Formats: sequence, C-alpha cells, structure tokens
Amino acid sequence: MNYKIALVPGDGIGPEVIEETVKVMNKIGEKYGHGFQFTAVLAGGAAIDAVGNCLPQSTIDVCKTSDAVLLGAVGGWKWDTLPGDQRPERAILGLRKQLGLFANLRPALLFEELAEACPLKPEIIEGGLDIVVVRELTGGIYFGEKGYKDTELGRTAYDVEQYAEEEVRRIAMVAFDMAMKRNKKLASVDKANVLESSRLWRSVVTEVAKDYSDVELSHMYIDNAAMQMVRNPKQFDVIVTSNIFGDILSDEASMITGSIGMLPSASLAKGNFGLYEPIHGSAPDIAGQNKANPMATILSAAMMLRYTFGLSEEANEVEKAVKSILSQGYRTADIMSPGYELIGTKETGDRIVKAIGE
Ligand code: NAD
Repeated sequence: MNYKIALVPGDGIGPEVIEETVKVMNKIGEKYGHGFQFTAVLAGGAAIDAVGNCLPQSTIDVCKTSDAVLLGAVGGWKWDTLPGDQRPERAILGLRKQLGLFANLRPALLFEELAEACPLKPEIIEGGLDIVVVRELTGGIYFGEKGYKDTELGRTAYDVEQYAEEEVRRIAMVAFDMAMKRNKKLASVDKANVLESSRLWRSVVTEVAKDYSDVELSHMYIDNAAMQMVRNPKQFDVIVTSNIFGDILSDEASMITGSIGMLPSASLAKGNFGLYEPIHGSAPDIAGQNKANPMATILSAAMMLRYTFGLSEEANEVEKAVKSILSQGYRTADIMSPGYELIGTKETGDRIVKAIGE
C-alpha cells in the first residue's frame, strides 16, 4: 500500500528527530512492501521566518490531503518575545482545529529497561506501567469564551469551561473503543462534585457505557486521580478526561515513566486521520547538537502505523526495535545512567533501523 504523510519538522530538535523517524519508516516500508510518500511543510517558527505566519494555508492544505501528519515540535527562544497570538505554538492549536483533531491519545509506558528513570519507588511500579490517557482536545476551557472585565476588585479575567454532550460522547467512544482493545477498564476523570460541566460529562460517559457492557467503567475526581497516579498508577489502564484535566494528568503520567524523550502521542479526527507527535517541545537547549532522543517521535510513527494505517505488525516491529536497543544498553543523554553506552540522535535512528532489519 502507499500512504501520504505530511511532515512538519518545525523548530529546534524537531527536524533532527523527524529525520531519524523517516529513516525508520522507510525501513519498515522496505521490509513490508509499503510506500510512504513524505511531503515536508512549514509550521511554527520556521514558517514565521519563511513566510511571516506560523501556519500557512499551504501547510493546512497538504495536511488535509495526506493520510496522516507527523510533527516534530515548534517554538523556541528566538520567537519568545512575539505576542501570544503570533507565537509559533499557535500552529499546534490551529492544526488541531483545522484538522478536527478532537482526541489526544497519550500512552504512558514504562519500559522495564528504563525502570530506574522512574521517580516512584520500585515497589509501586513493579511489573511495569502501561496507561493511556485519552484527552478531549478541542473543547473545554481552552476554547471557551474568555476575556477581561472591570469589577470592584479591579481587572478580572475569565475563561469559560463548557462542554456539549456531543463533544463528550465522541471522546468517550474513542476511550471505550481503546479500552476494548486493551484491558477493558476505563476511568473517567472529572470534578463532578463542583463543576456543572463535569456533571454533564459524567452523565454522558455513563450513557455511552451502556453500549460497552464489557468495559468496567469507574469515575474519579481529578484531585484524587492526580494523587492516585503517583500512589498506585497500576490501577489505571485507560483514562478519559477533559482538555484541561487531560493536559495536566497526561504530563504527570509521562513524568512517572522517566524521560520526556520517550513519549509519543496521537491526535485523532473522525475516521482514521491523525496527527502524530512526541510530547516534548523543541528543546532549544540541545538543538543542533545530535543530543535529542528521537524515540518519542519514532514511537509516534509506530502509533501512526497502528491507528491510522491499521498496520499493527509493523507498529509492533518498531516498538520492539526501540526496546531492543534499550536492552542492548544504548542510551541518549536524557535517559543515560552509569554503565550504559551514550549515543546521539543519528546513531539511535541508525540502530533502530538496524534492529528492524534483523
Ligand atoms: P521541552 O520539551 O522542549 O524541553 C524540556 C526539557 O526536556 C529540556 O531540558 C530539553 O532539553 C529536554 N528534552 C525535550 N525533548 C527531549 C528529547 N527528545 N531528547 C532529550 N531531551 C529532551 O520543553 P520547554 O523547554 O518547556 O519548551 C521549549 C520550546 O518548545 C518552547 O518554545 C515551547 O513553547 C515549545 N513546546 C512545543 C511543543 C510542541 O511543539 N508540541 C510542546 C511543548 C513545548
């Protein structure tokens, strides 16, 4: 089969980690007889510099006519003084909106080989960790009405948290489908003891559950979920939550797995279309030094193979290759510990390609 992939390398370490991921995808294509056709497009600071706009229409057009999008990262010190609405990071929000990406999947997988990078006690993570946070991505407080007004207390700012039942239903269905493919266990996280929008969330998730009688559904308040994530994370399998709670909870879940350089993500639209990206940013402190860990982006490509192209065997092969170089003792600087061999971005890509060939 042939697949069209829009590549958005972006800024900082983005182009470096994308380059290694393309090598890996090409190796998979060669081994399994698939053609991956990549079209590189501009977004973020690179686009601001080239055309004065962080998300040119041509980028949106290429993404829309592709089967999937692979993004590195955007942003950096150079553009930090621009006003909020002109910053490179706006490109990400724009892409989510333009491409209808309403579901963000963030697996937090602790590789046994990296157990020592986890800040939790060994007895808490014994046997490893494998959680997926499904975060609603296009609604809630980040997209609600916002503004300033004058009150007797001075300047007052507000951001409205709002959810429509259809928005909750579609993300709940993504999460239940995910739970069906895994251990049939779903925790819905909200703040229904305080927020009206959370009460609606809870009632819609409970309604959707009727179509998934095999899935064991639980509800948890966000404050408790944040605590349980470090106290007993193994109780979780799939978590579904709103935009703001998911933002925070998925960062917490990723922290317990060790390095930010290891974590992939997928943002899905209706149907199979998706945008895949590492959870880390553009890491300007290490950009251009062959120090970035490309594994998060390579694992994002594995998610693309699985969720958009339906190529599970190929996705497993990529994940196996990543695991194999870890078990051979190779480490980039971010996951380095004494006794292991330090390698750079390019060598990591090359070694993963080699492991796929074996
Ligand atoms: P960051 O994720 O870029 O970096 C945080 C720390 O983690 C840094 O020390 C960095 O060196 C390290 N790190 C990150 N990725 C790594 C990798 N693959 N390998 C090794 N080390 C890695 O977060 P930040 O410093 O807060 O943000 C830097 C820029 O990235 C900012 O402009 C920010 O707005 C942007 N950003 C973009 C995205 C995105 O494109 N989706 C996400 C987050 C931040």
